[in-house]
Amino acid sequence: MRSRSLRKLQLSVLAMSLAVAPLTAVDTTARAEAPRRPIPPAAGATTGTAPPVPAATTGSAPPTAPRVTRPSAPPASSQPVPAAAPAKVVYLTFDDGPKATYTEQILKLLAAHGVRATFFVTGAQVKAYPEITRRIHLQGHSVQNHTWSHPRLTRVSAARFRSEITGTDRAIRARTGYTPRCLRPPYGAYDGTVKARAAALGKKLRLWTVDPQDWARPGTRTIENRVLNGVRPGSTVLLHDGGGDRSQTVAALPGIITTLKARGYVFHSTMCP
Ligand SMILES: [Zn+2]
Repeated sequence: MRSRSLRKLQLSVLAMSLAVAPLTAVDTTARAEAPRRPIPPAAGATTGTAPPVPAATTGSAPPTAPRVTRPSAPPASSQPVPAAAPAKVVYLTFDDGPKATYTEQILKLLAAHGVRATFFVTGAQVKAYPEITRRIHLQGHSVQNHTWSHPRLTRVSAARFRSEITGTDRAIRARTGYTPRCLRPPYGAYDGTVKARAAALGKKLRLWTVDPQDWARPGTRTIENRVLNGVRPGSTVLLHDGGGDRSQTVAALPGIITTLKARGYVFHSTMCP
């Protein structure tokens, strides 16, 4: 009898970890490049053979508990996840704008398809295009912080960090009436210091899980295919409305939206409550 209920418990634990697994995978894709290494025998002891860490993950790899099979219950922290990541939600994000023409074209397309998105703007672009910033907000999209001048935040002083973020906050607040809660570090470059400085300013770091490299202009079709092949429930897609010629991104958007809709996806902008 005892072994029967024990078995039942084991089965339900297994079911729980199976249910959680895909979500965990989605959550970590942004840092998928982080080298997986065994826990060093002692803190600080490194083998010296660790592969070079890409810039985007420098120092950010949390003392990752390696993925182990847990004999007992899954960690408490993973339990609320299923409720928070329900059906097929996808977050479209547009970086480096706003910019005349491209942002306006994107806004028109999003409105035509009834889709909401998140725009990670730079303070400099908000200053250059205040009316477009306002329009993004009025159309129901989220306007969030992408620094003032797009530096690598891993290389700036504390004072520069603060002015990059708070200056952009002020510019966004003047156009939308709210202070952004999220910060997307340029180039995805962050480390523990960046994280701590962002937190001190009330910001959460938001990266992405699908990067079609649209900024490199690989072709409309390629951008579309990369997004469609990469999206899973809960994905955050990185696109650009600023920083250069974004006509390919604009052209790829209708196909991305209609196909994802046909697959049952809904588009949310509320990644930064
Ligand atoms: Zn950027």
